[in-house]
Amino acid sequence: MKRVQHLIVGGGMTAAAAARGARDAAPGAAVALIGAEPHPPYNRPPLSKALWKGDPEAGIWRTEDVAGVEMILSRRVTAIDPAGRRVTDDRGETYEYDSLLLATGGDPRRLPGAPPSVIYFRTLDDYRRLRGLAAPGRRFTVLGGGFIGSEVAAALRMQGADVTMVIPEAGLGARVFPADLSDHLARFYREKGVTVRTGEGVARVTERDGGSTVKTTTGAELAADGVVAGLGIVPAVDLARAAGLAVDNGIVVDELLRTSNPAVFAAGDVAQFPSAALGKRVRVEHEDNANAQGRQAGRNLTGLAEPYRHLPFFYGDLFELGYEAVGELDARLETVADWKTPFQEGVIYYLQDGRVRGVLLWNTWGQVDHARALVAQPGPFTAATLKGRLPA
Ligand SMILES: Cc1cc2nc3c(=O)[nH]c(=O)nc-3n(C[C@H](O)[C@H](O)[C@H](O)COP(=O)(O)OP(=O)(O)OC[C@H]3O[C@@H](n4cnc5c(N)ncnc54)[C@H](O)[C@@H]3O)c2cc1C
Repeated sequence: MKRVQHLIVGGGMTAAAAARGARDAAPGAAVALIGAEPHPPYNRPPLSKALWKGDPEAGIWRTEDVAGVEMILSRRVTAIDPAGRRVTDDRGETYEYDSLLLATGGDPRRLPGAPPSVIYFRTLDDYRRLRGLAAPGRRFTVLGGGFIGSEVAAALRMQGADVTMVIPEAGLGARVFPADLSDHLARFYREKGVTVRTGEGVARVTERDGGSTVKTTTGAELAADGVVAGLGIVPAVDLARAAGLAVDNGIVVDELLRTSNPAVFAAGDVAQFPSAALGKRVRVEHEDNANAQGRQAGRNLTGLAEPYRHLPFFYGDLFELGYEAVGELDARLETVADWKTPFQEGVIYYLQDGRVRGVLLWNTWGQVDHARALVAQPGPFTAATLKGRLPA
């Protein structure tokens, strides 16, 4: 049995930020991190963006954040005993803790029955595998038109690959962007040379002659050298559930990021937390939340009781288009578009009952704090009062 003062389960960005938070709050504290991947923590966003544009892999590591932290890698925690304050890993090693953070993130949603050659794009190893396959003229089928599908399709196309996207919805990012923008993005991708098949799902993926064939729900058969799936993630809650901790859509935490057991915390993609700004419980799968919430959880692990009240922002790149956003971006909400140039530059507000729930800053930079302030205001807002409010 090993004794650790503050134990972090998970080796992602949240874990890295938490390690830093704990060491900043209590410089002498003993912090250990158990991570299932063979790598120490690294930033994931460059895997679908900057690394394809020439940035070196060497820039992704979170080395400073984990300085002084005991790293236990290629190990998966398999059980938690909250009453005994103990965890067990997949080699049968047990660790006793004073406080524990679950930063287990999410696992990519998989296609039942699909062959192992399908790349569910999430980790550095997934990136390396895809990068090794990508070359001009090689054929790729990308499943899903959400964040990961759209970014990976653009990245592959920029390498000169022949890319086909298979998207069940009517356009790209259809769950997040208003219908006209989502539709515009499908056209924009086609102009970039990507074959975009909307309104079509995946029926089956099979391997053939060193490649793969995707059979779609309309009966089409698409042959490819590689298949990449971006079907979203499922929060990794099994450990918490088996330990009897409260789980909903994610591990349930309070504003101090404590689970239903006060010595166990959760943060990042896996945590469902109360958002003061949005007035409801949310789970956020974005970098700024991983960093800010991870850091706060790390501080609270050491005995501080500081509430997490940050409204995270997120961002993305689609070829040369880019955006930042805050709050709830749900295409089902009422939207007000304030374009400077349609679909090129502007701001979209997401409204519910006259309140701004989210703001999309489309090729519009430096406005995140103003957008946050709008979400915090009670309103009521209308199209007329919103237009021109943020410089588009
Ligand atoms: C390719 C890609 C691009 C992205 N781009 C953007 C972007 O542009 N903007 C943005 O805002 N966000 C982006 N994101 C999202 C952002 O990276 C995530 O929100 C963030 O990485 C979440 O970090 P996490 O540590 O909470 O979870 P994860 O990244 O899922 O890390 C969890 C870690 O815990 C490990 N683990 C799980 N269970 C166990 C266990 N039982 N024992 C030990 N270890 C375990 C996992 O192996 C994993 O390493 C992107 C994500 C990806 C994959």
